[in-house]
Amino acid sequence: MTKEELRYGEDYKFIPATSVTSGASVEVRPDLYCHTIQIVNICLVGDPDKKEFVLVDAGMPKSAGDIIAVTEKRFGTDSRPQAIILTHGHFDHVGAVIELVKYWNVPVYAHEAEIPYLTGKARYPEPDPSVEGGMVAKMSAFFPNEPIDLGSHVQPPPSDGTVPHLPDFRWIHTPGHTPGHVSLFRDRDRSLIAGDAFVTVRQDSLYKVFTQETEISGPPRYYTTDWNAARESVRKLAALQPEEAITGHGVPVSGDKLRKGLEKLAREFDRIAVPDYGKYVH
Ligand SMILES: [Zn+2]
Ligand SMILES: [Zn+2]
Repeated sequence: MTKEELRYGEDYKFIPATSVTSGASVEVRPDLYCHTIQIVNICLVGDPDKKEFVLVDAGMPKSAGDIIAVTEKRFGTDSRPQAIILTHGHFDHVGAVIELVKYWNVPVYAHEAEIPYLTGKARYPEPDPSVEGGMVAKMSAFFPNEPIDLGSHVQPPPSDGTVPHLPDFRWIHTPGHTPGHVSLFRDRDRSLIAGDAFVTVRQDSLYKVFTQETEISGPPRYYTTDWNAARESVRKLAALQPEEAITGHGVPVSGDKLRKGLEKLAREFDRIAVPDYGKYVH
């Protein structure tokens, strides 16, 4: 590893948010493992017997110890992923990435359009605490927003849609929540890792975030700046007819519940997902 300095933004800090599923793991498929860090999910993709796997997203700030423990529990002591793939660069998806990169010495992949936000060159628009959406939106004013800098450790995946180290998956550009947001899809069993393109718990209710009551919902409102792109992305994912979905927030959802919920969200996106007011609503 080079001597390059990796750093978090200046406002990086632990966020005291939690949910009933914090610390819980779900094996969605034999090679698809979802674990909840406080209020956000990470995903370990790979067969535990083969010891080759990838980590999708990097949890909340100060969660590296938890992520390493979960990884070693599943893949064995001293195991490490071949790469970390980021669906996007919000603080709750990159919260432990620097410690993990240093500890594991592995590459990070993120969409080309997301790279400026991960290399200290661009900052996401401020979250909108005024958006329709209750307490979590209000809290968003305290979320870390300064960009982290992963330097040369982050790179885009191949432009042909293939995902490094996951030959069965392809990445799909699903912008709207952020410009370079991606989702991962496996055609063989229609497994989807959706990031925050849509989520299975309403992020605008502190109560529902805590109880994790399942409800297929649009991307978290206080952070989503391009609602037209977000709508197109949800329609793109609904058209894939996923059988199983792991989202950035909320429990994994499958089968009929997923299909119907996602179709409804795609059809009635403006009513269900787009807030009635907020600074990014036009
Ligand atoms: Zn996000
Ligand atoms: Zn998120």
